[in-house]
Amino acid sequence: MADGGVRTTCPYCGTGCGLVVTPEADGWKVAGDPQHPANFGRLCSKGTALADTLAPDSRLLRPEVDGRAVDWTHATAEAAGRIRSVIELHGPDSFAFYLSGQLLTEDYYAANKLAKGFLGTANVDTNSRLCMASTVAGHRRAFGSDSVPQCYDDLELADLVVLAGSNLAWCHPVLFQRLKKAREDHGTRVVVIDPRRTDCCDIADLHLALAPGSDVALWNGLLAHCEAAGLIDFPFVDAHTEGFTEALSAARAADTCQTGLAPADIATFFQWFAATPKVVTIFSQGVNQSASGTDKVNAILNVHLATARIGKPGCGPFSVTGQPNAMGGREVGGLANQLAAHMGFDQASVDRVGRFWNAARMASSEGLKAVELFRAVDAGKVKAIWIMGTNPAVSLPEADLVRRALAKCPVVIVSDCVADTDTMRFAHIKLPAHGWGEKNGTVTNSDRTISRQRPFLSPVGEARSDWQAISAVAGHLGFGSAFAWKDSAAIFAEYARLTAFENGGSRDLDLTDWIGGDYDAMVPTQWGGKRMFADGRFFTADGKARLVAVTARPPREMPNVDWPLRLNTGRYRDQWHTMTRTGLSARLSGHRSEPLLDINPIDVGRLNLLDGALVRVKSRLGDYVARLRATTDQRPGDVFLPMHWTDRFAARAIVGRLLAGHVDPVSGQPESKHMPVKIEPF
Ligand code: SF4
Repeated sequence: MADGGVRTTCPYCGTGCGLVVTPEADGWKVAGDPQHPANFGRLCSKGTALADTLAPDSRLLRPEVDGRAVDWTHATAEAAGRIRSVIELHGPDSFAFYLSGQLLTEDYYAANKLAKGFLGTANVDTNSRLCMASTVAGHRRAFGSDSVPQCYDDLELADLVVLAGSNLAWCHPVLFQRLKKAREDHGTRVVVIDPRRTDCCDIADLHLALAPGSDVALWNGLLAHCEAAGLIDFPFVDAHTEGFTEALSAARAADTCQTGLAPADIATFFQWFAATPKVVTIFSQGVNQSASGTDKVNAILNVHLATARIGKPGCGPFSVTGQPNAMGGREVGGLANQLAAHMGFDQASVDRVGRFWNAARMASSEGLKAVELFRAVDAGKVKAIWIMGTNPAVSLPEADLVRRALAKCPVVIVSDCVADTDTMRFAHIKLPAHGWGEKNGTVTNSDRTISRQRPFLSPVGEARSDWQAISAVAGHLGFGSAFAWKDSAAIFAEYARLTAFENGGSRDLDLTDWIGGDYDAMVPTQWGGKRMFADGRFFTADGKARLVAVTARPPREMPNVDWPLRLNTGRYRDQWHTMTRTGLSARLSGHRSEPLLDINPIDVGRLNLLDGALVRVKSRLGDYVARLRATTDQRPGDVFLPMHWTDRFAARAIVGRLLAGHVDPVSGQPESKHMPVKIEPF
């Protein structure tokens, strides 16, 4: 450990805060890294409590096969043998990986290479599908590439920040701290677009509590307003975009009454946006987690493109990702519809990646996305699945279907650092993985900054990195030479070379500057430069961005007589995912010690319920028991539950059990915020 501690990165949200970890007499001190460009020393409650979560008690200590502890050689040989048997009998697509935005880029790269280059299947999907797949699809439609144009400094440079479907205060708290400070320093105007009143509204000049699902109508209305007000940047539009006429035609047909907002509030938002050259629109899960999520993303991008508010200081659309490495995962192809280095499944890319890898059996078309993947497991089409660092038995919609699918799947391999998760209970082969503090690799945060996660702890038990487990299995399958990396630095170097391979400026992701760099000394750096697209050059075939004509569509299921309320789901400030780590910290549980059903007092009275009472929430798929919290933060008719708890922590508390598996037709991202439910006394 160097003097001054180990510089590493927070394992939680996509802000990607830098940390300095130093030993203390009774443990570790975790502080914000003053030199990291994401946080400049700041931390939120979760980052501050990281040292509380290092206890080894909950860890998976050694590999197991069918309930027996075995050594790594036995476990990986057994995993390889079972995967080989399934593929020989049923073909490559009978195998799948299900990965996680918690994995390091190097782990993701190794899994993608094994599946897509050597086993011949693109069935490699990830919990990031639940997080930002609609943004990926929207970016690719508009820019020809999955590129985030902006950087965090733009929060401080903007004069207006629009938070669209983003509870930045709880989900990216350090970014919220930066925005709050900018507002104090120079009066940044803030507009919140969210059906709920969240803590973001504490600093908002305007809160637009729009009807759930009406985002496209609002943004189309803004595009039409900008055109009517003479604010379209026609020199930019004519030189650098296509599709404006069609997008405007669709926008003019928009009915902003669908939003349920007061016309005066809509007019105020439109006037502020139109009158402010420096606007940043932050968008997140409230936009993405929808059966029309990709259209919502493009509705936002349309306005920024038409007004040339993109890629400039303090000015542009800005997706913030939920997880620490959702960006790094998608960069190395951690989605079933992408190859590594942001390439797709066009023939030229398949050939290029195949040549680079000297692939044994290259996948040639897209694989199954998360929801359809687990349906395929349930249908017996996927017969072997390797799940790494995620808990789909809790976190996916149709959770009971997922559980049924895992229970009958012939081969379930789970790599995790935690011994007992809901998903681990279905595993035939358990592989102990490094936890945070032991991991050694890289992550990419929401503004394309690649940072190192560095180890400061010795691995617990026989835990190994995920890439080592993949490499060992690949070796047993006969692919050893292609996976013979000596360390994570070698994987990153190979990945960097792939990004540059036959690139010539044709693809957004090019890590040429990283090739041959000092991996251990790497400092946080944005790939692609501080901002992208300022020159008006995009990564489509003709170099022009696309405005996409979009029309508002309602959620796939609407409340009705039998299911009169609409369920929204999301995060709490101090918990993370399914609580396998944050659940270890008593101080984090102090914020919300149990799941609460937030509901408007009008509905409480109408349903003859009592504030504070336990209630059963029912959808057509399942049920959930929670304590009722009456709050005007919710619109009448809308209720909210957190995503974190499981039956293991509370009586009946898997929110995925309530959610249907409706997905966006372009991105495959599930609709997690619009499920009709009813409530009964418990
Ligand atoms: Fe970690 Fe996100 Fe908090 Fe930063 S804002 S300390 S990355 S959880």
